[in-house]
Amino acid sequence: MATQKYGVGVDLGGTKIATALVDGEGRVLARTSCLTEAQEGQEKVLERMYKTVEDVLGEAGIAPGELAGIGIGSPGPLDSKTGLVLSAPNLGWTNVPVGDLFRERFQVPISVGNDANLAGLGEKWLGAGKNVDDLLYITVSTGVGGGIIIGGKVHTGAHDIAGEVGHIIVQKDGPQCNCGARGCLEAIASGTAIAREAKAGLKRGESPLLAKLVGDGDPTSKDVGQAARKGDPFSTKLLQESFTYLGLGIASLLNVLDPQLVVIGGGVSNLDELLFDPVRKTVKETLGTSQLADVLIVKAELGADVGVLGAAMLVVA
Ligand SMILES: [Zn+2]
Repeated sequence: MATQKYGVGVDLGGTKIATALVDGEGRVLARTSCLTEAQEGQEKVLERMYKTVEDVLGEAGIAPGELAGIGIGSPGPLDSKTGLVLSAPNLGWTNVPVGDLFRERFQVPISVGNDANLAGLGEKWLGAGKNVDDLLYITVSTGVGGGIIIGGKVHTGAHDIAGEVGHIIVQKDGPQCNCGARGCLEAIASGTAIAREAKAGLKRGESPLLAKLVGDGDPTSKDVGQAARKGDPFSTKLLQESFTYLGLGIASLLNVLDPQLVVIGGGVSNLDELLFDPVRKTVKETLGTSQLADVLIVKAELGADVGVLGAAMLVVA
């Protein structure tokens, strides 16, 4: 019997498949990636996923039988118990039994999880949340997602929907969200929402500085951050308002979950203090004298590796 515990993490994304072989400490022994090319159909994508696993095993000279398992992070919704991906619009997938297919192919334990949940798990074991058992992970990028880690494990809920923090409603009759509701956190504080408001502001002529920065293109949340750093009042106000709502959402979640730590990742978290200052201020003001007002809110540490490492932690941690 192998004394060393190995696991493979596969991060299935809309554009890229990233795969890594890790040991029990989360150290990467081999890694590879390839384009997803979802337009070629699910068979081809699955074949490519298998090949990445075979490649990392081959590179490290490890047989599938030596694996504790293979963890797969996938866009959802999915059934984490069976590994059935119910729907992944980005990939054009409906009811794909990823777990069963991988089990058949590799004859090892397979775990499948939602990508934001696994990112939370990765941060818990290898990133900002090391030594913390209860944490709330929030990713702010094109959307807003989350992962709830309780007792070191992902809390998936009764329908694998737990952690959808992007769809808590923070503003009555607020902006329309993709989910059909109005005023969701995602419709206000995501990179997409900020870009949308910036574009509207430019149309109204509210920010000559941002207009100059963006030229003929459409503004991104990164552009808004750049303009805010140059002292642009419109951009500063837009970010402050958006992330105040993020802070309100987090304050509510703290009351529900009482975690030890909040970790914020995703591309928009790279706005750093432009995001973290209003979030922390709002949480402190909202929670007043509660012990929750002192819960640390920190930036994620794993960067682009978070998906693949989180997936691997599903089987080795
Ligand atoms: Zn929503």
